[in-house]
Amino acid sequence: MPVANVALPVPLPRTFEYFLPNNAPHPVIGGRVLVPFGQRNIIGIVTAISAQSKLAWEKLKPISEVIDRQSLFSDNLWRILNWSIGYYHYPAGEVLFHALPTLLRQGKSAEIAPLWQWLVTEQGRATLPEVLKRAPKQQRALAALLRGPVYRHRMCELQLVDATLQALCVKGLCVLRPEVPETKDWRYAFRVHGERQQLNTEQATAVSTIRSEDDRFVVWLLAGVTGSGKTEIYLTALEAILAKGKQALVLVPEISLTPQTIARFRERFNAPVEVLHSGLNDTERLTVWLKAQRGENAIVIGTRSALFTPFARLGIIVIDEEHDISYKQSDGWRYNARDLAVVRAREEGIPIILGTATPSLETLYNVQLKKYRQLNLGQAAGSARPASQQLLNMKGLPMKHGLSSPLLTKMREHLKAGNQVMLFLNRRGFAPVLLCHECGWIAECTRCDRYFTLHQHQRQLHCHHCYSQRPLQHQCPQCGSTQLVAVGLGTEQLEAALPPLFPNVPIIRIDRDSTASKGALEDYLAQVQRGGASILIGTQILAKGHHFPNITLVSLLNVDSALFSGDFRAAERFAQLYTQVSGRAGRASKQGEVVLQTHHPEHPLIQKLMHQDYMAFADSTLEERRQAGLPPFTSHMLFRADDHDNIQAKLFLEQLSQLLEASPLRDNDLWLMGPIPALAPKRGGRYLWQLLLSHPSRQQLQRLLAANLPLVSKISQSRKVKWSLDVDPVDS
Ligand code: ADP
Ligand code: ZN
Ligand code: ZN
Repeated sequence: MPVANVALPVPLPRTFEYFLPNNAPHPVIGGRVLVPFGQRNIIGIVTAISAQSKLAWEKLKPISEVIDRQSLFSDNLWRILNWSIGYYHYPAGEVLFHALPTLLRQGKSAEIAPLWQWLVTEQGRATLPEVLKRAPKQQRALAALLRGPVYRHRMCELQLVDATLQALCVKGLCVLRPEVPETKDWRYAFRVHGERQQLNTEQATAVSTIRSEDDRFVVWLLAGVTGSGKTEIYLTALEAILAKGKQALVLVPEISLTPQTIARFRERFNAPVEVLHSGLNDTERLTVWLKAQRGENAIVIGTRSALFTPFARLGIIVIDEEHDISYKQSDGWRYNARDLAVVRAREEGIPIILGTATPSLETLYNVQLKKYRQLNLGQAAGSARPASQQLLNMKGLPMKHGLSSPLLTKMREHLKAGNQVMLFLNRRGFAPVLLCHECGWIAECTRCDRYFTLHQHQRQLHCHHCYSQRPLQHQCPQCGSTQLVAVGLGTEQLEAALPPLFPNVPIIRIDRDSTASKGALEDYLAQVQRGGASILIGTQILAKGHHFPNITLVSLLNVDSALFSGDFRAAERFAQLYTQVSGRAGRASKQGEVVLQTHHPEHPLIQKLMHQDYMAFADSTLEERRQAGLPPFTSHMLFRADDHDNIQAKLFLEQLSQLLEASPLRDNDLWLMGPIPALAPKRGGRYLWQLLLSHPSRQQLQRLLAANLPLVSKISQSRKVKWSLDVDPVDS
């Protein structure tokens, strides 16, 4: 009696066996089935079919229904996902379901629904948009309709909303119709219709190098300073791929921040470009997914999860801003889309371009190892002018809510000129430190020359290196001052403090919390684009490929918490943020200015960034990581656990640590650090603890984990906490 192994969307690291009823169609590997689980029927994905089961016959239940007659996954994608299950030690069902659009997870059939489009009517065609100048949105909408059909799912790219088109419809100027399925393959009509830029020498060299090997797996690091014309390279590289009839996948950190980039892809090619953005409903998303699978799309642009789009003929992958940490999924299955994209390119046998002005140290290390190949663009192509930079020594200066008086003066000047000001705060992972405002002294762990991380609510200092701890002190040991301050001000606190200082100036806060609801980020960005004096308070979300032409002053308020953070990655993040914003503040017509507030203007990191460049910083930081035995020279895995009483999680991690210590696979190169409280030690009323594993050999560490993870559920404490494993963490 043959049985199917079925992966279910449940947090268990195993698959389940069901027998195949005689009269039903045969299930396929990679296809969905409906199976009984507990009291109900749920959807599963078949991972294997075997001739018989080791289980007793009576224990098996039958498959209730076979949904798919063919696999939903391409062979390559199937291999990558199965590899990921092992690499990330994450349940098969959750990984496979993660890779599917919502409707398929719910069991809906894998069928293309027509996409709806607004079409101009005869009457609309005979109407001049100027007639509508009292209704500027309608005027814009009509102008767009006159250029061609407006797909409903692409309206937000044109910054149009349904209501505007409805209003035109009432006036008889347009109608909504389902698209007529394309009968002609886009490949027959493919041509470049947008304007090509005349490439400069560096760009031309990069393009011809990429093109000379564009039929095989190569990882290109395209290291180009801000404004050096990386997008132009992507477009030119894609041109040759599309001309061969192959498809392209482009990943970006945040869709809403890149409308201009997307428009350039659409304008350049006479071929279907689809964007997977948060404005799509589930049906539209599924249709885009299925069209890609059938080869009906030429280019798919999306964020992290677009990596799992199936393609009939994928020919190239582009990862824009490869250093961006949003490529790392921060909960559930914590995969890194950049790393998986490289795995995918290898499986597909195609080139991948990692583009950035500020390469991650992992990527630079891969260049050193000759796994990746680097192409450089050193000069700005367009009209961007670098911002002027200024260091503000805060030591002893009067401060208001983290803003020094010279900075306040500057802010007033820029606002008075009708320009916008952007204030950057704590990026994720910039851990708070305890600092003396008078002399700049910073609390430091004497055992390891690392800075203590301040855990305010416990009133303790913790070393995130050797996990020693001590109570908060009240006096500076260097100068005796009692002005010890926690460096690490929150965005909300600042938002509340600004209005009295800047009455009548609109203040816009953009961070993970303020943009959690759908469309919120888009609304804020539209507000910023409209111009007029305003202050933006932002976290890292704002540094991603943004183009805010009216922002002329950018200040990083809180540099010290990055310089002296207990998180060894803080310096890298800071250098990336600094380089990105100083490359972008202002534009040709308006000189931009970047102001860094610090108690330590002499700090080598700052000096290096101001007087050399990001690459010089990266070289020396990589060398420091080598000497310190930190990633990418060692491999990290992080166990996280949380509880509600601040006892169980630590206990669980201690027992886990003992389990690993006792393992026969453990060797002397394994380093177990913790348990210690997480950098952000409390969330939603729960206490977060962590245990970090470090080993110079990734394979060794993987073997140790594979052997021991099945034993973790036997730790009695494991049922009293929530725990998870993060492979290659980005904040540890
Ligand atoms: P990056 O992505 O590297 O920041 P972009 O590709 O956005 O840079 O290019 C920055 C600006 O320079 C854009 O306005 C682009 O149109 C322009 N540009 C790019 N390449 C050229 C070129 N060869 N000649 C003239 N302008 C260019
Ligand atoms: Zn002091
Ligand atoms: Zn220490």
